[in-house]
Amino acid sequence: MNLKKCYFCQLKTKPSYKEVETLERFLSQRKKILGRKKTGLCCKCQRSLTKQVKYARFLALIPYVSYQGLK
Ligand SMILES: [Zn+2]
Repeated sequence: MNLKKCYFCQLKTKPSYKEVETLERFLSQRKKILGRKKTGLCCKCQRSLTKQVKYARFLALIPYVSYQGLK
């Protein structure tokens, strides 16, 4: 069991599409959103994160797929 508070609750903040660097911490190498088991976020923040990442993608702040490191 992971009793630690999630990253965003700990910092008393919420995921924001403007904080690309923060969002990228929760993305895989291929820019896929990591599952809750890997991110360690609470249900609320994970859902918010997904929303914000999608919005950041829509604004082209984060690429949909990254081919970096696949070669
Ligand atoms: Zn949380």
